[in-house]
Amino acid sequence: MLFNKALRGGVQSVLRLQSTSAAAVAATGSQNAPSTGFCFEMTDQQKEFQELARKFSREEIVPVAAAYDRSGEYPFPIIKRAWELGLMNSHIPEDCGGMGLGIFDSCLITEELAYGCTGVQTAIEANSLGQMPVIIAGNDSQKKKYLGRMTEEPLMCAYGVTEPGAGSDVAGLKTRAEKKGDEYIVNGQKMWITNGGKANWYFLLARTDADPKCPTSKAFTGFIVDADSPGILVGRKELNMGQRCSDTRGITFEDVRIPKENVLIGEGAGFKIAMGAFDKTRPPVAAGATGLAQRALDEATGYALERKTFGKVIAEHQAVSFLLAEMAMKVELARMGWQRSAWEVDNGRRNTYYASIAKAFAGDIANQVASDAVQVFGGNGFNSEYPVEKLMRDAKIYQIYEGTAQIQRLIISREHFGRFKK
Ligand SMILES: Cc1cc2nc3c(=O)[nH]c(=O)nc-3n(C[C@H](O)[C@H](O)[C@H](O)COP(=O)(O)OP(=O)(O)OC[C@H]3O[C@@H](n4cnc5c(N)ncnc54)[C@H](O)[C@@H]3O)c2cc1C
Repeated sequence: MLFNKALRGGVQSVLRLQSTSAAAVAATGSQNAPSTGFCFEMTDQQKEFQELARKFSREEIVPVAAAYDRSGEYPFPIIKRAWELGLMNSHIPEDCGGMGLGIFDSCLITEELAYGCTGVQTAIEANSLGQMPVIIAGNDSQKKKYLGRMTEEPLMCAYGVTEPGAGSDVAGLKTRAEKKGDEYIVNGQKMWITNGGKANWYFLLARTDADPKCPTSKAFTGFIVDADSPGILVGRKELNMGQRCSDTRGITFEDVRIPKENVLIGEGAGFKIAMGAFDKTRPPVAAGATGLAQRALDEATGYALERKTFGKVIAEHQAVSFLLAEMAMKVELARMGWQRSAWEVDNGRRNTYYASIAKAFAGDIANQVASDAVQVFGGNGFNSEYPVEKLMRDAKIYQIYEGTAQIQRLIISREHFGRFKK
């Protein structure tokens, strides 16, 4: 908390400085560079965040990433340190004790953390995913209670939507919440819940209208559920292909009682809340995939400048240097994708189209770039003594969670046709 407060103080002084200079510029009407209304330059505050996250990631995550991958142990010491530095939960509103950062600034941090290890980044990012429904739909007392406590100590939360029989088809989920007096009684099963075994509370989406004819937009309700509620059974940690230190579990709800005060907005509003959160959480997923791709590019470049075949470093073979050039192109464009989608939503615009483009593109190129990095490493790339095989395994999930690559294309095509017809 001390660090969080200290960082907030630092950030606020930077903000004050910036508004002073911006006011001065406005008063004199002069600027250093011609204004085009389009700018790739980060603010000093953004540079500070990026630098802090970069230093932390390279000095404290990179050295331990392989060991966490091997053991599958939850990286709580790193998470605690990230919390102390103010590098997580950064969008919790200031009136709940947080920093109230926008999505763009959070993404800057996310990309850097992902560079170090996307298992760690996913564990951290799952907090944002769990918190986002409360940020966008919680009332004051819900926000203060559940977001506020996360600024007091390093707690985790989780987003509980997917079920064994319903992932892409969210409307097919079967978990039921029935109102009895001032409570809801929940029964059902969730699957693939990141931070499932570590969460202090869950965002839960459950069906409240049993009528199969009830429209999806009214049939589901979003709840905040304390993880220690009686009747919650946490499954075993799943052994996944990649991001192995992240905690993914099934959760069973058996007659779990949730007070009506924990309903978000009101009965029937849940589907919109659960899906609405993605506009703010897909840009960070894209930023994470970009961070992984940047790491793969850097590792491959370093190796190509050292490894020699046929009397020269392999970077001097055009086939290798062009491969690296292709990888660089993809990384740069993926970065622009998350930047655009984050910028749109921070400016109050509907960003669904850009968020899905960013997520789909970054997820795809992370897989391509990681695979190409393995290729550049040759036989060594296939071996766990070198960092790139982990990157290739870790990359795959970016095409699956928070909406698969196919679901993103469904959204993009729907949005595209909508724009075309206007
Ligand atoms: C490691 C991990 C962490 C996760 N974390 C969370 C979490 O924290 N919270 C949470 O709620 N969920 C989480 N998930 C769940 C994740 O979001 C789902 O796995 C994902 O949405 C896909 O759902 P599914 O697995 O049921 O696949 P399905 O929906 O069964 O899809 C199977 C295949 O069919 C394709 N497909 C399905 N429908 C269509 C269609 N209409 N058109 C074209 N193709 C289609 C899909 O793209 C996919 O290729 C996580 C999953 C994993 C593996």
